[in-house]
Amino acid sequence: MDAEHFRDFGKAAVDYIADYHESLRNRSVLPNVQPGYLGELLPEDPPQSGESWQDILQDVDKFIMPGLTHWQSPNFHAYYPTASSFPSIVGELIIAGFGMVGLSWIASPAMTELEVVMMNWLGRMLELPEEFLNCSEGPGGGVIQGSASEATYVALLTAKEKKVKDLLEKNSNLTEAEIKGKLVAYSSDQSNSSVEKSGLLGSMKMRLLPTNKEGQLTGATLQEAIKRDKEAGLIPCYVVANLGTTPTCAFDNLEELGPVCNREDVWLHVDAAYAGTAFVCPEYRYLMKGVEMSDSFNVNLHKWMLVNFDCSAMWIKNAKYLVEAFNVERIYLKDQHKGLAPEYRHWQISLGRRFRALKVWFVLRIYGVEGVRKHVRHQIALAQYFAELVAKDQRFECCSCSMGLVTFRLKGENSLTETLLNRLTEEKKFFLIAGHFNNTYVIRYAICSRLTEKEDVDRSWNEIIRIAGNIVPWKIT
Ligand code: PLP
Repeated sequence: MDAEHFRDFGKAAVDYIADYHESLRNRSVLPNVQPGYLGELLPEDPPQSGESWQDILQDVDKFIMPGLTHWQSPNFHAYYPTASSFPSIVGELIIAGFGMVGLSWIASPAMTELEVVMMNWLGRMLELPEEFLNCSEGPGGGVIQGSASEATYVALLTAKEKKVKDLLEKNSNLTEAEIKGKLVAYSSDQSNSSVEKSGLLGSMKMRLLPTNKEGQLTGATLQEAIKRDKEAGLIPCYVVANLGTTPTCAFDNLEELGPVCNREDVWLHVDAAYAGTAFVCPEYRYLMKGVEMSDSFNVNLHKWMLVNFDCSAMWIKNAKYLVEAFNVERIYLKDQHKGLAPEYRHWQISLGRRFRALKVWFVLRIYGVEGVRKHVRHQIALAQYFAELVAKDQRFECCSCSMGLVTFRLKGENSLTETLLNRLTEEKKFFLIAGHFNNTYVIRYAICSRLTEKEDVDRSWNEIIRIAGNIVPWKIT
């Protein structure tokens, strides 16, 4: 394909995407296909000679579109949002168009430099302590990872290397292998699956500690667990605090956890994958009080900050530890600018890196800080509106409402709520998922799409109460 054909193909694709977004409200959010459907429709072998882009685009519509779950639909309320916005989509196109891999500063200087600037913009937007920023006097800095999972894992590996080095320097009578075998990490039983996975991947015991009724890990629980492990001869190393848990968007209290971690010399990582974006709004910053006591902090721009997947912002208070942990040099990676700009390959797992900062730049410039705030506040207001609808109907109980996430259930046996969710899912018009709240079965209702409006919330609620009417046939308002 030459540049002339690319112009036509690209323009047609942009029209296709715009049409798709405009049609989302009228589509069933869940597809009506069975596992293996696509294998039956596509040829077993690739074509021997090239085909026309028109045929391919048509086949996207014919074969792929029917198998899509429409994450950007205003009727998608599952999981957490996966952000998408037009400036970010264009950013992705241009990133692909440049076709670069940022191995080092010289591999494409603008890549590193824009990332440094964007991470500072974002850090100031969230009002993170200055020492986390690239521009501070100290060794702090920000980097874009692919996912929160990677950020949690990178922080765990860094904490591990630091702890081993510190203990060996203090002339511990343990060998490196013995120290590594005794390290322990902690988080809450509400933390995301990726936190437990980081322990598995990093070969570190991960204790998922019980939370209080609000889904928070308290300082006392953490302190007690650390005490017990020390008494058993283990070495506490790493804590992941949650600002916005996946089940109910609960916030751990950093003012309680921070002093425990600092006193015990344990690395504190903050997973604010979803809710971290809310800190662009001054009224929510009280929820991150104590963040200055953490060692690393992460927020997924691809969840709530209008930047398409994948784009996860991570800050580290002392990036020296990170670079020491992951620095592997080769002659083909050397350049003479060493030390003058971050060599981000040492801050992550893979060697190559994408130019993700470009799409962040597009989003922040098109929306502005105020635009992002408006988006966040609008989605929180919609969730509160949904929670009010639930609370008004006496058949239901609203279990939690935090940020853009509501959990609710039908009063009585769990099976009633389970039946409600199953019937709703069978209809495929709205997509909600199950969760647990204080050991009861609940339905999670998250405001995900930037297209969701009050009327969409009303429509989904009307559908919920219509189905509920067949399960629990009375209503008192
Ligand atoms: N942390 C929290 C609180 C999450 O809700 C999620 C995903 O929903 C993750 C981490 C994992 O995010 P990622 O897919 O970017 O690894």
